[in-house]
Amino acid sequence: MSVRAAAPHRGSEFRISLFQTAAGVKFLEELRGFSSHAAEIQAKQFTWPRVRSVLQRSAICSAASGATFYASATAMQGLFGGLFRVSASTPVLAPVCGGVAFIISALSADLAARTCIKIFFTHAKPQPERRKRKRRKQPETTSQQPVKVNPIVPVAVSFGMFLLLGGRLRSFLPSNVLKPGAFHRRLGSISGSSQYASKAGKELTQEHGAAFGCHTCGIVRSQFWADHMPPKAVVAARAKGWARKFFESRRVNYRMYPQCRPCSSIQSATILRKSRKLIYHYNVLRRYHLTGLSVGLMQSLFPQ
Ligand SMILES: [Zn+2]
Repeated sequence: MSVRAAAPHRGSEFRISLFQTAAGVKFLEELRGFSSHAAEIQAKQFTWPRVRSVLQRSAICSAASGATFYASATAMQGLFGGLFRVSASTPVLAPVCGGVAFIISALSADLAARTCIKIFFTHAKPQPERRKRKRRKQPETTSQQPVKVNPIVPVAVSFGMFLLLGGRLRSFLPSNVLKPGAFHRRLGSISGSSQYASKAGKELTQEHGAAFGCHTCGIVRSQFWADHMPPKAVVAARAKGWARKFFESRRVNYRMYPQCRPCSSIQSATILRKSRKLIYHYNVLRRYHLTGLSVGLMQSLFPQ
């Protein structure tokens, strides 16, 4: 090769001769091009148009994913309550259906964020000419294959955010008016007996209602009653059975939860009719609904 012929012994002559070859000249061109491209990228990192673009993308993706998460959660409530009659107090099925509703809502929000990026921002990333030439030479492998979406990451991250925001899986389901509702919390209740709440108990119930809302429908701004759970009328009806009469009188541990007046009226009517009534909470917004925003924010900042 001409390299060895031009500089067989001395190192400096060897290097000069190496870069005079065709491969050496090409390497230098590539190096210069890479350096200028890296400098260009570095210069763009903290410019205002770039920051503004990131903010716009984050805002649009978060809004889309947040709205989608809320809409999906609402639809799941109607689906499981309306079609399958599953409520927040249904044993076994409540956490299972709540989990399914959460996963569907999180994936829907993630899909909305991805779609926004694809529609509004994909065209805003022109590739440098040098890279385009390089890609043509590569075999058709990754660029031609469809992008595989890993659903575990967005679901896991959003579930962590959901828990941090105080979310509970049963909140995706409607409330059975005869049972502790979708918004009940033991922390927001007081122990009681078959008697009405005392004055201190009523005041505490009012405070619990302001903090956690009506345990059935979730409304926060209201006058709250101390609602017995289980309802006294239901316990009285059970106690009429000859076998249970003795045991029920000893077994019942009442808790009193805050309940708004409309829900209390519906509960009374349901007990009179001896029927089952589900209360839907479509228009209630809670902190855990912000989970959808976090999904879009994550997808816009760290797209997969
Ligand atoms: Zn209510």
